[in-house]
Amino acid sequence: KGVVHRICSGQVILDLSSAVKELVENSLDAGATSIEIALKEYGEEWFQVIDNGCGISPANFKVVALKHHTSKLADFPDLESLTTFGFRGEALSSLCALGNLTIETRTKNEPVATHLTFDHSGLLIAEKKTARQIGTTVTVKKLFSNLPVRSKEFHRNIRKEYGKLISLLNAYALTAKGARLVCSNTSGKNLKSVVIKTQGSGSLKDSIIQVFGMNMFNCLEPMSICISDDCKIEGFLSKSGQGSGRSMGDRQYFFVNGRPVDMPKVSKLVNEIYKEQSPSAGVNLKVSMREHSPEDKTSFRTVNINAQSLQLSEGSVSSDLENIPTL
Ligand code: ADP
Ligand code: MG
Repeated sequence: KGVVHRICSGQVILDLSSAVKELVENSLDAGATSIEIALKEYGEEWFQVIDNGCGISPANFKVVALKHHTSKLADFPDLESLTTFGFRGEALSSLCALGNLTIETRTKNEPVATHLTFDHSGLLIAEKKTARQIGTTVTVKKLFSNLPVRSKEFHRNIRKEYGKLISLLNAYALTAKGARLVCSNTSGKNLKSVVIKTQGSGSLKDSIIQVFGMNMFNCLEPMSICISDDCKIEGFLSKSGQGSGRSMGDRQYFFVNGRPVDMPKVSKLVNEIYKEQSPSAGVNLKVSMREHSPEDKTSFRTVNINAQSLQLSEGSVSSDLENIPTL
């Protein structure tokens, strides 16, 4: 109980992009091969994530948005390792607390879908049958509406919040292997406009071309380093001498096992090495878990990379890895 409380006390939803990130992660966890993110007024009015994953079974309708409810514990040797993986059963309950949450869902065993409405404490307050394919749609209306100060700030900074979200979704578009990803926004009386669209073809190369275009891709070169049987680092970096004079510093994406992660220390190192050049980097660290032991809380092999002029020291990579929100 103590451990559960501690790992659940961290705030997971800080802004629009972390809210959507949690929903996209849930869709990927549900095995979705198609994920659509729809926004109304850049997320200010509402946002929804529509997937074709496994759906939520009726037995879980009542508990799914309660704090600490998760169906993802079984794979882990003990609760301590959850600090690293972010499977905390907290996203849906936090979204209930911060806005108005509804879910439409259908598993392969159900002939019809169910529309679920939750209150701010995560209690299921209404349930009705509806038509839908297999999968789940989670809708959040009026994020932060019951936090007056945060809400004001949210509305004032909505363009910035939206920009951060698009940058995050680009990262998913680059690596959500096999999953088709579409993001659209509807503003005012305008028609829905599609902002991001990828086919989920599978290769990082194809995704880079789809998301950033061929010109960008031509400035990159592949890198691949095998560290051991179960640890491989691969991706693309800007060719030396390329990219200068262009602001591409915001186009650095790091992934662990195909999921975007924030790796400020690795990013800083890349920037220091390339100085004025502001390199673009799409680097996928493929790291598999080691046997978990109490003395070794990180569960990861530490990695030592020395590729071209890119040197990532053991310490910086492993300490960034400790902060991986989800794997
Ligand atoms: P966590 O992801 O840490 O388990 P969440 O609050 O994000 O916690 O989700 C709670 C539970 O709701 C998940 O464990 C999962 O069983 C179910 N769930 C959430 N989103 C989806 C989805 N898109 N498809 C299927 N199940 C989902
Ligand atoms: Mg989740």
